[in-house]
Amino acid sequence: MAVMEWIRMDRRDFLKRAGAFLLFIGILPINPVDVIIRPPGARRDFLARCIRCGECLEACPYDSIRFLDITAGAMIHTPYIDPLKTPCYLCQQRGHDGKDRPISRYLRCGEVCPTGALKKIVNNKDVLANVPEEIRMGVSVINRDICLAWQYDVCGECYYNCPLKDMAMKDRPPSESLRENTGIRPYVDPKHCIGCGMCNYVCPVKRHIAESVMARDARLSYFEERYASMVRNLTGRAGAVRLPAVRVIKRL
Ligand code: SF4
Ligand code: SF4
Ligand code: SF4
Repeated sequence: MAVMEWIRMDRRDFLKRAGAFLLFIGILPINPVDVIIRPPGARRDFLARCIRCGECLEACPYDSIRFLDITAGAMIHTPYIDPLKTPCYLCQQRGHDGKDRPISRYLRCGEVCPTGALKKIVNNKDVLANVPEEIRMGVSVINRDICLAWQYDVCGECYYNCPLKDMAMKDRPPSESLRENTGIRPYVDPKHCIGCGMCNYVCPVKRHIAESVMARDARLSYFEERYASMVRNLTGRAGAVRLPAVRVIKRL
């Protein structure tokens, strides 16, 4: 009878039960400082709580959430964000007037999570810029040596596109606030950056342009095309550099 029950189980039920079983026998690593970027609201004991149900993935209006595959071992079928492919939009929609509007009262992924593995967070920019550090996704860091704004006084896409603009991403470091004669000098305030990855996604300095246009299937993104010649100069001049110019890393 039990065997028949397992056979009839759909994929989601199977993964739920398999996850619970692995947790029960203590195989799953419960490591609060893994390097995977989780959706916003992931608690310290995320892995112990996540039952791999897929609700967050289905609820995300931007398809930002992906699931780890079998190569992740015991973390298989847990949600993550790859900002270079699709960042988290913080459940905001940008209108033609350039202003963001929340599309839901709470961030959708945390709202539907049945176990609280993702905490429910009010979808308000002041709240999002000040959520407790342990439930942020990560923090963005800029490499000024290969940033077009810092090197050539152009770009600033990360600043303009940050959903927490002027809170998480500022147009210049506090120490340079009086130098009004320069363009954008993007500066991340780690106290407010939630790690959504939008800056990472829009930054045109994310791959060696010369290599990517030669690759058969490579299509340049809008931002990469727009700044292609400058990026080519910059990466050529800088030699072997670690791209992109702005990346989200896990807070440790
Ligand atoms: S906050 Fe919204 S956009 Fe971001 S991962 Fe969650 S559901 Fe998707
Ligand atoms: S990750 Fe980048 S875009 Fe997102 S809040 Fe931080 S600075 Fe802004
Ligand atoms: S998007 Fe990238 S290159 Fe442009 S200002 Fe930001 S970090 Fe610099």
